Amino acid sequence: MKGQMMHRPLKIADIITFAAANYPNGELVSVRTEGDIHRTTYRETAHRVAQLAHGLNKLGVNPGDRIATLAWNGYRHFELYYAISGIGAVCHTINPRLSAEQMIYIVNHAKDRILFCDTTFVPIIEKLRAHFPEDLRVVIMTDRAHMPETSLEGALCYEELLDGQPQEIDWPDFDENQAAGLCYTSGTTGNPKGTLFSHRSTLLHAFTLCITIPKVLQEGTRILPVVPLFHVNAWGLPYAAPLSGASLIFPGGALDGKSLFDLLDTEKVFSAWGVPTVWLGLMNEINQRGRLPDGFGDVVIGGSAAPRTLIEAFETKGVNVCHAWGMTEMSPLGTQCNLPPDMADLPQEQRIDRKQSQGRGVFGVEMKIVDDAGNRMPHDGVSQGHLYVRGNTITSGYFEDPEASTPVFDRDGWFCTGDIAVIDPQGFLKITDRSKDLIKSGGEWISSLDLENIVMSHPDVANCAVIAVPDPKWDERPLLVVVPREDAQPQEDDLLALLADRLAKWQVPDEIVFVEQLPLTATGKVSKLTLRKQHAEGGL
Ligand code: ADP
Repeated sequence: MKGQMMHRPLKIADIITFAAANYPNGELVSVRTEGDIHRTTYRETAHRVAQLAHGLNKLGVNPGDRIATLAWNGYRHFELYYAISGIGAVCHTINPRLSAEQMIYIVNHAKDRILFCDTTFVPIIEKLRAHFPEDLRVVIMTDRAHMPETSLEGALCYEELLDGQPQEIDWPDFDENQAAGLCYTSGTTGNPKGTLFSHRSTLLHAFTLCITIPKVLQEGTRILPVVPLFHVNAWGLPYAAPLSGASLIFPGGALDGKSLFDLLDTEKVFSAWGVPTVWLGLMNEINQRGRLPDGFGDVVIGGSAAPRTLIEAFETKGVNVCHAWGMTEMSPLGTQCNLPPDMADLPQEQRIDRKQSQGRGVFGVEMKIVDDAGNRMPHDGVSQGHLYVRGNTITSGYFEDPEASTPVFDRDGWFCTGDIAVIDPQGFLKITDRSKDLIKSGGEWISSLDLENIVMSHPDVANCAVIAVPDPKWDERPLLVVVPREDAQPQEDDLLALLADRLAKWQVPDEIVFVEQLPLTATGKVSKLTLRKQHAEGGL
C-alpha cells in the first residue's frame, strides 16, 4: 500500500523563496571586487535572482545547459547558484586555481554555454578563450562603470543582464532529479572528474547540514564560508544558511589571516568554515593581536585533516572546533566531530583526542570499511580498511566519464572514497590516510596523518607533510618535509626524537627535508603528488 501524501519535487529555488518570505532580513554581506563591502537581504536577493533568471532566459538558456562560473565568494555568485538551477540549467563552478590545461579540459568537457566571471579572472579567460567552445558567451560580474577593457568579443555586463527585468518569477516545475550543479575534483591524477548534483541531492544535503550542525545553522547566526563557492558548493552553506535563517558573510578574494580577522571582527561572525591551511594563517593573526575576533566562537575545519595543534589552539581560546570530513562526490558532508554531551566534561586532552578524529556519521550516509579483498571489517576502533559510502547525496557516476566511474563502485554500488579509515564502536571515524598517499614499509602501513600530527606539535614547525619514497629494502619509507616557523630553526635530531618517543622505531622517518613552503592543490590542500615528484625520486 502506498502512502497518501502529496509528492512535490524538492527544488533549490524554493529555498530562496522560503527565505525571502520567512527570513526576509537574513543578510548577505560581500567583500566585492569593486573594493567595497556590499550588503543585501534574502528578500532583495530573491528579487535579483528572479531578474537574473529572466536574463538567462533571454539569453536562450535551456534546461540542462551548463552555465559556468569563475568567481570568488560574493552575492552575485550566490545569485547565480539559484537563478541557473531555478530555470533547470546546471551551475558549473570552476576553480580558478586549476592549471590552464585542466580549465580548458573541463570547460570543453562540460560543454559550457555561458561563463560568468569576476573582473579578477578576465585576463585568464582572455588567455584561454581560443581553446574554449567557439559559441561560449562571457558575462563579467560587475556593473557598467566597472567593466574592464577586454579583448573578449561580445562580453556582457552582469548588472545590465538584470536591469529592467521583472523582480518576480514563477519557477518552472521539473523532476527533483534534474541536474542542478556540476563540480570537478581537482584531478590530482588523470583528468578532472565531474560530480553532477541534483535538486533532490542538494536539498537533502542542506537538510542534513541543518540537523547535524544546528548550533551554527539557525536564525540570526553569522557564518563566513572561507571555503569557496567553487569548491563543492562551499560545503552546502549557500543552501543551508537561507534554509535556517542564518546570514552569510562572503570574503571575496582576500583570504590571508589579517583580512579574515578584520572581516570576522567587524561583521561579528560566529562561525567560519574552511580548510586547515587558511586557519593556520588566521591563528597567527589571533596570536599577534592577542585576542579573538569579536563574537567568534566556532570553526568548521575540513577538506584535509585538522592538525592537533590547530584544534588545541582554537579550543583553548574558547572557539569550538568542528572537524568534518567529506568529498566532492559526497556533496560533500560525510562526518562531523562536534562531541556528544557525555564527552563535554572529559579532560581537555581527551576532548582534543576525540576532535582529532573526523567524527560521527550524518543521517543518509552509510559507511563501511573493507580489506583489500572487499570483506567488511569490524567497527572496533582498530581495524583499518578502505572506506566506502552509500546514500542519496553521493555520486552514482562521474559526469560523462564511464571509464573513470566503473572502478570506484563495488559490486553492491558502494562508492570507494579512496580514504583509509578506522571506525570505533561509538561511531567515530578516523581517516588514517588516502590510499594513494599510503606508506607501506616492510608490509606494514604507516599513517602519514599520525606522523604529521606529532611533528606539528613542535613549536618551531609551521607546517609539514609526510610522503612515501621508494626503498630497496622496505619497498617504501616515510620522508618528512618540514616548513620551519618564521625565525625558527627546528633541528632534525629533535624532531626525530619527538617521533621516536611516540612511535615504533620502523615508523619514524629516516630523513627530514626542510623547505620554505609546501606545494598546494587548487583547493588549498598540501599536494602530496607534487611533493612526491619533487622528493620521491632519489629522495633518500
Ligand atoms: P580534491 O581532491 O579535489 O581536493 P575533495 O575536496 O573532494 O577533492 O577531497 C576529498 C578528500 O579530502 C577526502 O577523500 C579526504 O582524503 C580528504 N579530506 C577531506 N576532509 C578531511 C578531513 N577532515 N580529514 C582528513 N582528510 C580529509
